[in-house]
Amino acid sequence: MSRFAWMDDALCAQTDPDAFHPDGPGHGYRTAAKICDTCPVRKDCEEHVERLEGAGSRADRHGMWAGAVPRARARQAETTAKEQRDALIIRLHNRGGMTAQEIAAAAGCDERTVYRVTAPHRDQAAA
Ligand code: SF4
Repeated sequence: MSRFAWMDDALCAQTDPDAFHPDGPGHGYRTAAKICDTCPVRKDCEEHVERLEGAGSRADRHGMWAGAVPRARARQAETTAKEQRDALIIRLHNRGGMTAQEIAAAAGCDERTVYRVTAPHRDQAAA
């Protein structure tokens, strides 16, 4: 029994694990990508690796998961983190009562980012 029930149906658990962790020049992810393309639990796998890796460093990412190589997963995680940060900035801006400096501190960014993200919202409010 796997740690998660969906892992019982994972195609990578029924094949050569080295295909998902290629090592050295000339050893790509092509075989693993083909297997992931037909895997019945790909969506579960994708959600699982997103939870595992979150927005962590690229160095922490290894192997192919859900048809995605480490670099692609890192890019996606960065995009998701920026979207979540921008959504927080807009929520705090629209709520009112906070300075750009306070919003920046709450969102973990600099004030320039707050001004950039809220610019379209300021323009709408002024119109
Ligand atoms: S989608 Fe995930 S579970 Fe399925 S074969 Fe690929 S890495 Fe394994």
